[in-house]
Amino acid sequence: MNSAQRTRLLDAAERALRNAHAPYSHYRVGAAVLTDGGKIFSGCNVENASYGLTNCAERVAVGAAVAAGAKHVKAVAVVADGPAAPHPCGACRQVLAEFAKDDTPVLVAIRGHLRNAEVLTLGALLPHAFRLHKS
Ligand code: ZN
Repeated sequence: MNSAQRTRLLDAAERALRNAHAPYSHYRVGAAVLTDGGKIFSGCNVENASYGLTNCAERVAVGAAVAAGAKHVKAVAVVADGPAAPHPCGACRQVLAEFAKDDTPVLVAIRGHLRNAEVLTLGALLPHAFRLHKS
């Protein structure tokens, strides 16, 4: 991932955050995934009155990519309001592991502070991920 892709990815995540449906938690999150074709797909959290049906931004972004036929995630960005950087939840880490490799970069940033994004890898976030295929 080059610098321009990194900027595009973080910007896409920040834009998606604006569409978050978060009337219960008021915690808005945007995510974006860069796929091997160079396309970026984004998602936001979509909460539900039946709280357990809520979808995280990361899983919405992955779903958008898969629906478009893109199944190889090369980088991920997640942006949310502070105070803490929005590290993906455990469920999202496992879903990302289905479509990304352990060395896939995962950028997390606070809205308005994209230049200070923390860069992790999926393998650092979810060591020994459960997979039925070789990563
Ligand atoms: Zn999640």
